Amino acid sequence: MMTLSRSSALQEVDGINTMNLSCLLCYQASPTPVCHWCESDIFFFSPLIHGSNLLGYGPVASHVKHSHYDGLSLLGLHTWPMATLVHQFKFTHSLVSGKVLSHWFVHNKRHCTMSKPDLLLPVPISAWRLAHRHYNQATVIAKHLSKALSIPYFTGWARRKGFGSQHQLTKAARATHAAQVFELSKKGLDQMISITKQKALTVAIVDDVLTTGVTVNTLSKMLKARYPHINIQVWAMTFTPPPKSTLMLETPLTDKL
Ligand SMILES: [Zn+2]
Repeated sequence: MMTLSRSSALQEVDGINTMNLSCLLCYQASPTPVCHWCESDIFFFSPLIHGSNLLGYGPVASHVKHSHYDGLSLLGLHTWPMATLVHQFKFTHSLVSGKVLSHWFVHNKRHCTMSKPDLLLPVPISAWRLAHRHYNQATVIAKHLSKALSIPYFTGWARRKGFGSQHQLTKAARATHAAQVFELSKKGLDQMISITKQKALTVAIVDDVLTTGVTVNTLSKMLKARYPHINIQVWAMTFTPPPKSTLMLETPLTDKL
């Protein structure tokens, strides 16, 4: 059976008008939202090369907090041009960019051997940010992934308080900050846990960018404290590599895998 490339798979995305488009990144005419030249410059993680669970892959695992979750899936590196796509999605209301990222993520999941989660949990943003942005980017991604992979998503599991952003904080400060700003909602996953009490519930916390891992680790710690038997994966679109990461030396993968 012929394997669809990421580009041709994108043409199948319903709701994306693939005719007469220009590339979201270079603005050249392209039948797909991101042209194949730009796509070939993107670093994609591959389950076949880097492993299905990136917590087993040193160049990623050694740089992210992961003491309270069990699995990690990432689409690619948060470097040019992928970082531009994420930026457009978060800050310029380019919902098509979010759809493209989600669709690539699903495409990459074909070779992943980690167990399929029962539930997707988008990382919450504050009410203040939601009022300004009008959408939670993690929820938009979770909705696309939910539809494509037939996994329900649940937004009411946790809440983010306050106004602050984590961008300027050190890793240690982020940990303290995250523990203060997030809280599980009152009933949390109680209903889901009671429905699936025959087996351990597996969830995937969904976010756009993974930098230090502190946010998702803090949320995982809270979930495990309340639901000790839960399995937690983290699914993020991009990973911000630390300076001088060996990942920066790798050549982008082609789609011939
Ligand atoms: Zn392009």
